[in-house]
Amino acid sequence: MSKMEKKRIGLFGGTFNPIHCGHVKAAESVQNIFFFDRILFIPSYLPPHKESVDVASAAHRLKMVELALASFDRFFPSSVEIDARGTSYSILTLNKIKEMFPQTEVFFLLGIDAFLEIETWKDYEDVLEQCSFVVMSRPGFRLSEAKDILTEKYKIYLLSINTLDISSSEVRERIRKNQSIEGLVPENVENYIKERRLYLQKNEFQD
Ligand code: ATP
Ligand code: MG
Repeated sequence: MSKMEKKRIGLFGGTFNPIHCGHVKAAESVQNIFFFDRILFIPSYLPPHKESVDVASAAHRLKMVELALASFDRFFPSSVEIDARGTSYSILTLNKIKEMFPQTEVFFLLGIDAFLEIETWKDYEDVLEQCSFVVMSRPGFRLSEAKDILTEKYKIYLLSINTLDISSSEVRERIRKNQSIEGLVPENVENYIKERRLYLQKNEFQD
């Protein structure tokens, strides 16, 4: 890349409860098209709440992201939302990242299921205006459902990529039922989950 070209960064947010091979594969497919200087995987902070069952602590979720990304040069965990505590609003995260990486073009990476809920985000129009979006296909959802949100004002890339039909919910459910999660999460993440005995039962939120 020439020195004149602006650097580009991808932000991939999620609960990552836990991170699974579908997340990693999707990011790899996007990276093969966009060649970001880096992609930050950003686990959201979830406030301690009696009703939030089944969520591993922020520290566990961040650690699993770290483990999953260990072998990738350009993929990095970011604790920006966890460190901020409080509700994780994308607009706040975006502003922080822009401060941390000035002169860098920011892209939000997200699955079509998440994108279809964007109108529920705080200040979502500002988020859409202030960065580009890369929307990734996901089994069970159609990219064409996004058409109502698309206008010329926004830079939105809809990517039909090869995705894996895996969700964190499925991973958690399989663990609770004592079923194998081999191949659904990276091996080091699988080992971490086993060692820490995560997701064996629906827990109350632990900070
Ligand atoms: P849960 O079942 O708990 O909702 P999840 O598998 O959907 O978990 P999230 O942490 O909610 O994972 O998702 C974070 C981001 O990753 C979202 O933008 C989501 O659309 C995307 N994503 C999750 N799984 C896949 C997948 N298999 N393929 C492509 N994108 C995915
Ligand atoms: Mg989800």
